[in-house]
Amino acid sequence: MKLPNYNYHSHTYRCGHATFVNDKEYIDKYIKNGFKNIGISDHMPNTKYQLPDERSRMDINHFNSYIKSIKKISKRNRNINILIGLECEYSNILAKHLCMLKDKCDYLILGQHYIDNINPISNIEYPLIYAESVCDALDTGLFDYIAHPDYFLKYRDTIKKEDRDAYISNCKKCFKTICIKAKKLNIPLEINLNFINNVKIMEDNEYPYPHSLLFDIASKIGNKCVIGIDAHNPNVIAKYKDSFYKVLRDLPKLDIIYDYNPIKYRTKLLDKKYNIFKKNIKSFEYFYLKKIIKRIPYNSNNEEIINMFNKLKINLSNNKNIIINQLLKEIDTINNSILDIKDKNSMINRKKEYIKLTEKRYKEQDKLLTNMIKILNKNKYKYNGQKLIKRLKEYYL
Ligand SMILES: [Zn+2]
Ligand SMILES: [Zn+2]
Repeated sequence: MKLPNYNYHSHTYRCGHATFVNDKEYIDKYIKNGFKNIGISDHMPNTKYQLPDERSRMDINHFNSYIKSIKKISKRNRNINILIGLECEYSNILAKHLCMLKDKCDYLILGQHYIDNINPISNIEYPLIYAESVCDALDTGLFDYIAHPDYFLKYRDTIKKEDRDAYISNCKKCFKTICIKAKKLNIPLEINLNFINNVKIMEDNEYPYPHSLLFDIASKIGNKCVIGIDAHNPNVIAKYKDSFYKVLRDLPKLDIIYDYNPIKYRTKLLDKKYNIFKKNIKSFEYFYLKKIIKRIPYNSNNEEIINMFNKLKINLSNNKNIIINQLLKEIDTINNSILDIKDKNSMINRKKEYIKLTEKRYKEQDKLLTNMIKILNKNKYKYNGQKLIKRLKEYYL
């Protein structure tokens, strides 16, 4: 069996849970191991209003230097093809943010690690909700392939024994829905190699993912598949060949793309979908406002409405202090630990940077609330109650 010599699923130190080495070290490892097509796809940053997520993703402040760094390495290695991407979760709240990110990258992969407000633990309905959210994401045209489409299976051991049959039946429904949608849009499914080097086997004696439950269905429906190393450490790149054969041994015969390149593979249909999607999206600020409005009693008068926004501003500043104090305590814990001084310093520096970033994000939220109050005050003599709220919403459409 041939060995594909590409990988478009690779992380960097910026996400906070990958090995702390520079980008060049990763790319050198790929070159040394014969890869001709590489894509770096670190976890997407949050919007400028959301708190930085120190353990899961780069900050929006690091995004431009991430692009610059990969582009610089790419220029120095003209004999191989290096693309820049991101691994992203989808939710309609993030639509505008995702479009901004996509327009600065070569490609995006969909890594639906969570669904807003839905707990996957012991939840037999989760696969059905998951399928719906993946299909919504694919329909936007934002994404070039689906990373670990069976990601949620890593929670399967939390399902009560008596619910397992119903859960498996929901998983099958989920995978069928995803496979049909992906096939229709010509979007490949990823065979993810992240867990192959771990010994972590689940109760059914399989890896958390990739799972035969998905790939049996993909094989029957005839989905195209790509390989993704999902590298969080340059050392796994050298193990790629072994991982590839090891994972395929346990899966049915699949239609693997051997010369995949997300730019060349992308169809006009996806571009068309993306252009339509982009025209009809609402801003993050709009969804932020909608969440606030939900909490305002329907019969509130103008004074009560404006008071609500002022109260939120005060809460914001209290919450900021709680979070920053927590980060300062974590710095103390690191300081008092028995860690190596070099590790200690790098961990503390990252925390200190994240304190600054947290302050910055709160400042952005405060600015947004201040602006909303300004608009309310400007319009409060012209409009009343719900009409005033409607006027405010129009500003953020
Ligand atoms: Zn992922
Ligand atoms: Zn990943």
